[in-house]
Amino acid sequence: MYKLIIASSNKGKISEFQRILPDFECIPQSDFNITNVDEIGKNFEENAILKAKNAFTKTNLPSLGDDSGLIVPEINGEPGLYSARYAGKNATDLDNRKKLISELKKRKIESTYAYFFCCIVAVGVNNKEDLVICNGKVEGEVKIFERGEKGFGYDPMFYPRGYNESFAELNSLIKNKISHRGVALRNLTRKLNST
Ligand code: IMP
Repeated sequence: MYKLIIASSNKGKISEFQRILPDFECIPQSDFNITNVDEIGKNFEENAILKAKNAFTKTNLPSLGDDSGLIVPEINGEPGLYSARYAGKNATDLDNRKKLISELKKRKIESTYAYFFCCIVAVGVNNKEDLVICNGKVEGEVKIFERGEKGFGYDPMFYPRGYNESFAELNSLIKNKISHRGVALRNLTRKLNST
């Protein structure tokens, strides 16, 4: 099976990658003792490139980096690029959601338009060093009410458009079909298959 190094230490993300890419063996970079790079890019794409290149340089195997986040336009695009560390450097998912809920409550917002964005970069695939870059987005609403136990991150407070359930209530097949990461990954497989 084709090996693909996933430049992430987020277990929730890695299992989503594996489910969406059943033809690949998705190997977390931690299996090679690679730690996360500092996310110093100015946008999602720059961070995804940093992650993919770092894993590729250290393993010489096809590598995939992604960077994603939740964007809430009504609060100036927060948590955005800083989604993983919104409540501080070592913040947990719960800390980050609490911070977002408190930012929304401060402005008396119970529910507002939001979207998840994901940029995925593959390097070293098809024996080429070129970067293959793909994006995905899913729109919906964030609410101060959390529902569901599945998923990770901001899932319990994100309600995708067209569904009455939060990402944390939806079954993983549906989430993977409509999510920012699912869309970006399918764009990627389409691009890779056409090269
Ligand atoms: P990254 O590892 O720098 O890409 O961090 C992305 C952060 O955005 C995660 O830690 C989550 O807080 C959030 N995030 C990204 N994708 C999702 C998702 O599918 N559901 C919930 N939160 C997500």
